[in-house]
Amino acid sequence: MDTHHLRNLLHPDLLRQRLETEGVPRTTLSFYRYVRLTDAETLRHTLYQEWEALGVLGRIYLSQEGINAQVSLPTANLDTFRANLNTREAFKEVPWKIAVEDDGKSFLKLIIKVKKKIVADGLADDAFDVTNVGTHLDAKTFNQKMEEGAVVIDMRNNYECLIGHFEGAYLPKADNFRGAIDEVTEMLRAKEGQTDDHGARSVDPLGRPVAAPEILLYCTGGIRCEKASAYLKHQGFTNVAQLHGGIIDYARQLKAEGLKSKYLGQNFVFDERLAERITDDVVSTCMQCGTKSDRIGNCHEATCNMLLVQCEACAEKYADCCSPSCREIHQLPIEAQRVWRKGRSTRSTKTKAINDPEGLRQRIREEEELLALNGTLHPELTSINPHPVLNG
Ligand SMILES: [Zn+2]
Ligand SMILES: [Zn+2]
Repeated sequence: MDTHHLRNLLHPDLLRQRLETEGVPRTTLSFYRYVRLTDAETLRHTLYQEWEALGVLGRIYLSQEGINAQVSLPTANLDTFRANLNTREAFKEVPWKIAVEDDGKSFLKLIIKVKKKIVADGLADDAFDVTNVGTHLDAKTFNQKMEEGAVVIDMRNNYECLIGHFEGAYLPKADNFRGAIDEVTEMLRAKEGQTDDHGARSVDPLGRPVAAPEILLYCTGGIRCEKASAYLKHQGFTNVAQLHGGIIDYARQLKAEGLKSKYLGQNFVFDERLAERITDDVVSTCMQCGTKSDRIGNCHEATCNMLLVQCEACAEKYADCCSPSCREIHQLPIEAQRVWRKGRSTRSTKTKAINDPEGLRQRIREEEELLALNGTLHPELTSINPHPVLNG
C-alpha cells in the first residue's frame, strides 16, 4: 500500500482556517478499549483512509493491547462512524463519550499512531493481570460511596488535577502515571498499615480488625483507572472501584440525571481547549500572584511553553508569559527570538511551578529586580538588530 499520503502535512494555520470555514457542526468524542489487535500497522492505514473520508480529526493510538481515541467529526457523520466501528469485531459497540462543552474545533488534523501501549503507563503489564479491574461505578453510585466515606483518589497527573478535582480527593504530586501510581500505593499502605506500638493492624475497641475503606479511583475518561485498579488489586488492595467513563462521562450523567456534582471546577483535556468546565467552583490560584484563578495556558515564549495557571491581570502584566525573562524574549523582534530558539527544544509543556509556586514567584521577584537594575535580562539578544527593511 502506498502510505505516503496517509498523513496530513499542511500548516496548522491553514488547517485552522479550513476548520473555521468548514461550516458544519462537529462533535468531539473519545473512546478506548483494551483488546488484542494483531496487525496494528495495516489497521492504521485502513482506518486513516476510512476515517479521513468521514471528516474525522483527532488523535488515535493503536497498539497490540488496544485503541485509545480522541476525535472530532461532523455531527451528521456520527451514525456512519458508529457503523464503521461496528464492522470490526475489536471495536464493536465500543462505548464512546461525547465532550460536554465543545465548539467542535478541538482538533486540527487526523493523527493515527501505532504505539507500544495505548497509554504510556510505565508498568510491567505482564507482572499482573490487567483484566482484573476494579468495580465500575456510575456517577450516582460514585457520589453515594463518597458520602459513605470512601477514599477518593485522582489518577491523573498533577497538572490535570490542578484546576478541578473531586471534593477531598487525594491528588498525586507526580506529573506522570507511573509516579502517581507509586505515590498512591505508598499513601494507601501508610493508611492501611497504621499500626499500634506492637505493630498490629488497626482494630476496633473489641480488637477486631477494621475493614479497609473502599478505594475510589477516577481519571479523565476512565482508561487510566483500568490499569490503576488492576495494579492496586495486584498490590493486595481488595476494595477497589473506579468511575466508569471518567470525569467526561460523569459530567454527562450529571446533566442527564440532574445529579449534584461532587467534582469541582474544570476538567483538563488534551486538546486545544485545555479544559472544560464542570462547575463554577475555582479550586486553584494564579501561580504568579496567588489570587483565585483557574485560567490555564502555556507560556507564550515558545521554548518555555510552561503550563501555568495565570489570572487575567498577570496574563496582561507578563504578556501571557511565565516570567519577566520569557516576557522579554517574547516581545523581542522575531529575528532576535530566532537566535534564542536556535538549538532549544520547544516541547516542554509541564511545569515544576505546580508543586512549588512560591519558587516561581521568587524567580519573578529576582528577575524584576535585575530588570529594574539593568533594563534587560537578555543583553546578548537585545543587541541583535533586526534586518533593516528595504524600501522600494
Ligand atoms: Zn495573577
Ligand atoms: Zn516561560
